[in-house]
This record gives sequence, structure tokens and C-alpha cells, in this order.
Amino acid sequence: MAAPVQHDVVIIGAGPGGYVAAIRGAQLGFDVAVVEREVALGGTCLRVGCIPSKALLESSHRYQEAKETLGEHGVLVDGVRADLAAMQARRANVVKQNTDGIEYLFKKNKITRYLGDGKLTGDRAVSVTAPDGSVTELVAEHVVLATGSEVATLKGVELDDEVVVSSTEALEWDAVPASLVVIGAGYIGLELGSVWSRLGAKVTVVEYLDRILPGMDSEVAREALRVFKQQGLEFELGARVTGVSVTGKGAKRTASVAIDGREPVVGEKVLVAVGRRPATSGLGLEDVGVALDDRGRVAVDEDFRTNVAGVYAIGDLIHGPMLAHKAEEDGVVLMERLAGQASAVHYALVPGVAYTEPEIASVGQTEDQLKDGGVAYRKGVFPFSANGRARAIGSTQGRVKILADATTDRVLGVHIIGPRAGDLIAEAVAAMTFGASSEDIARTFHAHPTLSEVVKEAALAVDGRAIHI
Ligand code: NAD
Repeated sequence: MAAPVQHDVVIIGAGPGGYVAAIRGAQLGFDVAVVEREVALGGTCLRVGCIPSKALLESSHRYQEAKETLGEHGVLVDGVRADLAAMQARRANVVKQNTDGIEYLFKKNKITRYLGDGKLTGDRAVSVTAPDGSVTELVAEHVVLATGSEVATLKGVELDDEVVVSSTEALEWDAVPASLVVIGAGYIGLELGSVWSRLGAKVTVVEYLDRILPGMDSEVAREALRVFKQQGLEFELGARVTGVSVTGKGAKRTASVAIDGREPVVGEKVLVAVGRRPATSGLGLEDVGVALDDRGRVAVDEDFRTNVAGVYAIGDLIHGPMLAHKAEEDGVVLMERLAGQASAVHYALVPGVAYTEPEIASVGQTEDQLKDGGVAYRKGVFPFSANGRARAIGSTQGRVKILADATTDRVLGVHIIGPRAGDLIAEAVAAMTFGASSEDIARTFHAHPTLSEVVKEAALAVDGRAIHI
């Protein structure tokens, strides 16, 4: 048997956690190798998650604009039609540009790439089984687990990849379903529900809780629910799904989603979007004794160390929100710590964004959390409807809400529903990372006329001195 190939760092998984860690590690002078079973680099996010969904959200939004709102701008278009094949080709092309980009970055940073399934086999040892069955043994000073997450399933619900599907298949349909039942009103359910609703499907979202977007500020979530209903999405909240049955043959198949104590909801397709779970299977964790926590995640300390020497884990595999930007920060900080630097991830300030229309974004504590924690706070709210730029672009739904400590004025949470909320939240994240007060934001120049002035006005509103309302 050939001697194992030696690297400083071997990373299993080339998603946003793994590939960013690889690049940062290479920048710091490590000899880095990445093991990835998919030909395309970039993981779930680039191949079948964040990026393709944003491509389809954009295309479907433009189609809807052309049909419904361009007339307000005096732009008259007749006979608007959606060419789904072209949208899907564009989606695939956007994905390819991104995954090819990672390949380029790997070459640029001299990162070795192994195609195949990676598995821990012993002391800092990883075996790679290539698609042709050949096995390459690797050893490294540091082994990083970055395999991300997989779709969580539901008792009584079997995915068949055709009628009852996960987000992966729902991104690639070549025809618009007449009706779609989405199970789960989280990020995926609302984003993909929006895409297919805009393209003409009748969409019903079935959610276990009595609200949508759990974890987000409940006032913002209520406003979002109202807007989504206006857009034509239907909701069954507080609904416990007990099973899904598929009847009929071939193209005539339909699925019936059974709900405890209610009439079932029937659809041509069912999208199951009830969360994701850490992708720990097949990694050899049991063989080498890597411990999991009580929620099935890889247990790590603040240096991302598992209980096995030389083995680390980052991203969706460990604690914290399952978000690409959080995984990226984990990867960067791990590599910097391995290089002796003292960087840290600010877990309390990971922003969350739903890329619906309007977008919904938040950072820090929700009003619900402050109330529950008995924290005295002041609240500033400002609506986009009172902002000149929002009126000019014709996107006036939503508002910015800033929550600040009643005594110190330190910003504790910012919650935005409105146009470009996902971009606007960046200012709040930066301000909070620097420990800003609402007064700091209020005293900061915001160019006129921009949507960002709504953030400034909300900061002024904390002190009851917003100008334009
Ligand atoms: P999620 O956790 O965002 O939402 C799942 C929803 O399903 C929740 O509202 C939950 O209450 C509901 N649910 C759970 N069990 C249910 C049941 N039995 N019946 C009905 N509803 C039930 O999960 P997701 O939308 O599947 O997304 C998966 C992961 O991907 C998340 O961790 C998310 O952070 C990430 N993601 C993020 C983005 C983004 O940042 N924009 C987009 C897509 C996915």
C-alpha cells in the first residue's frame, strides 16, 4: 500500500465553511488539502442552496414586476410570459460561475483537492474513496470536519424526490406545479414558496408553530405574514403534519398532507422544509470516538477542537445557526487560531436574512427575548413608506426597528423588513460589533436619498426625534 500523503491541514467538505477555511489556511502558510465528494466545489450553499435560490428569487421577482408593477413606472410591456427553461438555465449558469470561482481560488492558493468520500480512519488520518473506488490515505497535523448539514425529515413523510421533495429538487423543476404545499414556514419554505407562487403555483404553507419565521422578532414576523398573505400565499399555522400520502400515477400524481384535527391540504407537489441536521454519518466519527452533543452536533470547545486530538469541526456540524456566513467565520477563526492568532467569532451577532420580497433581516436580540429577559429597552421604529428613495423605487412596505438598552443606549437588536433589508442589516452588524449606541447611528451620516436613511431615522426614533414622521 502506498504511504499516506502528508498535509498540514486536511479539510473534509468544500462548502462555505470548508472552502473558506482552506483559503485562509493557505494564506497563513499551511499546506492545505480539501476532500469533497461532489465534482463542483462550494457545497450545499453554492450548488443547491443560497445561490440557486437567489437566482430564482430574482428571476421570478422580475417576472412579477413586469406583470404587475412596471406599469406604475410608465413602462408598458404586453404579453409578459415566463420562460422557465431560460430561468433554470440562468440559475445553472449562476451556480457554475460560483463553483468555478472556488476552483480558481483553490488553484490560486495552491490548495490540493481530492475528489471522493472522506472518512476519519485513525490518528489524524483520513481515507478518501474516489468515485472509481480507489482509496487514497492522507495524514495531517490538523483534520477539519466541515461536511455541513442535510435535510431533516419528518415522521410519516417520505421524500420521493418527485412529488414529495426537499429544496434540492424544488430548485430544479422544469414546470410550474399548479399547487404546492410547503411544510415549514422557515427560510427555505418562504423563499421557495415565494418563487413558485410568483410563477403561478397556488402555494399553501403548513407550519407547526402558530407563527412564521421562528427565532425572528415576532412583530416583524407578523408583518411578514400579512405581506405574504397579500401576495397570495396561504397559511395553515399551528398545524401538526401527521403524514403525506401520494395517490395517482405518473404526471397525475397528487399528494395529500394530513394535519392533526384539520382537513388535509392537497397539492401537486410537497416541499418539506422543516430544518436541517448535521451531516455526521459516514465520517467515521464513531470509529475514532468523536463525541456528539445532546442535539447530534459535533461537540467542540471554543477552539473548534473535538474530544479527539487533532480533529476539529466547524459550520453546520457544530453549535450556532446553520448559516453560510457563520460557517465561513468559523473556518477563518479556526485557521487563525491554528496559526497562533487570537481571533474570535461573535456568535451573538450573526445576522439572519430571509430573501423574500420584501427581505427580512435581523441581528442581535429580538424584542421577545428582551421582554423575556426583563431587560429595560427603548425602541425606535421607522417605516420605509416615509423614505424618499423607497417611494422613488416603489418599495415602501416594511420598517426598521432598533432596540437599545434603556440605560446605556447600547444597541441590542435591529430588525428590518423592507427593500434590501439583507444589505441594510450590515450597518447594524458593524455598529453592534463596535458596541455602538443608537445615538452613534443617529449621529452618523447616511447619504440622501438612500434606503439606509430608514436605519438612521429608526435610531433617531429611539430617542423620539425621528425627522420625517
Ligand atoms: P428553518 O429552521 O428555517 O424552518 C423550519 C420550519 O419548519 C420552522 O418554522 C419549524 O417550526 C417548522 N417545522 C418543524 N417541524 C414541523 C412540522 N412537523 N410541521 C410543520 N412545520 C414544522 O429550516 P429550513 O427553512 O428548512 O432551512 C434549513 C436551514 O437552512 C436553516 O438552518 C436555515 O438557517 C438555512 N437556510 C437559510 C437561508 C437564509 O439564510 N436565507 C435560506 C435557506 C436555508
